[in-house]
Amino acid sequence: MPNPQTNQETEHARPGNLPFSLTILGAGSATPTLRLHQTAQLLTMGSDYVLIDCGEGTQLRLIEQRIRPSRLRYIFISHLHGDHYFGLPPLLSSLNLGGRTEDLYLFGPRGLDEVLTTIFRVSNSHLGFRLHFQVVEPNEPALLLDHPQMTVEAIPLQHRIDCSGYLFREKPHKPHLLREKLPADVPVAYLKQLKDGHDILGGNGEILYAVADYTEPGPPPRSYAYCSDTRYVEELVPQLQGVNLLYHEATFLEDNAQRAAEVYHSTARQAATIAAKAGAGRLLIGHFSSRYKQFDLFLDEARTIFPETYLAIEGETTPI
Ligand SMILES: [Zn+2]
Ligand SMILES: [Zn+2]
Repeated sequence: MPNPQTNQETEHARPGNLPFSLTILGAGSATPTLRLHQTAQLLTMGSDYVLIDCGEGTQLRLIEQRIRPSRLRYIFISHLHGDHYFGLPPLLSSLNLGGRTEDLYLFGPRGLDEVLTTIFRVSNSHLGFRLHFQVVEPNEPALLLDHPQMTVEAIPLQHRIDCSGYLFREKPHKPHLLREKLPADVPVAYLKQLKDGHDILGGNGEILYAVADYTEPGPPPRSYAYCSDTRYVEELVPQLQGVNLLYHEATFLEDNAQRAAEVYHSTARQAATIAAKAGAGRLLIGHFSSRYKQFDLFLDEARTIFPETYLAIEGETTPI
């Protein structure tokens, strides 16, 4: 498991201040339209950018959003249907052309490395940076990444081919020090100990400063779950329990529930049902089939089950 140290540790270390937001780059499904682009999302995690899926044209979406691709550090690909990763080889090529030297961490299904290796071999291209690839096993909710401030777990989905979602979870924040309650001359070492959750003891083992008296709990850790292409899978609910923001695909409306089941996709109502059962804070839906011209119908259908549902709108950024 890669456990890269970030070079922004000090900035990351401030509890509760970690920028954590999601920008939708593409919310469409497999058939291209001029209105919706293929799936891609950008998660801002502190000073790191995380790309989640990379449909065709994703690098153009990044340019449109004025997002510097050089800040990408992690890429998570859900599955090998083209609408979720055909934008990856050109993005990697552009990073290379741009002179990237920093390591990049790629997570995805078995076979993705083979595709990329073949493309770069036949075009006689050599990346000037290290691309670390980790296979994501499709049936296990495994821990994939232990970042200084976050963990990322795989979410086993059920689609026509191996497919995984991803759960990004902030690590618990350290307690907030109530500095004003402490004497001005208290040693700095004590402050650190209190923040780390340890009482300060005197020479005879007596408590000089108790954590409970001089700290208050940090903000609750935030989480984001990305459930890419999948049929309705109620077994996801325990893993998603209490997630702050859930993205769940909603390719169809209930009028096509039969079709959704056949092609291993979900309806808006099913996405909302998962959100409701998991007690999610908010639900974003996307991956709408090109057969629909009106997306408000998705919202209406989902909100009858889960009122805090929103459409994934390209170009919009949602704080988590
Ligand atoms: Zn898809
Ligand atoms: Zn798919």
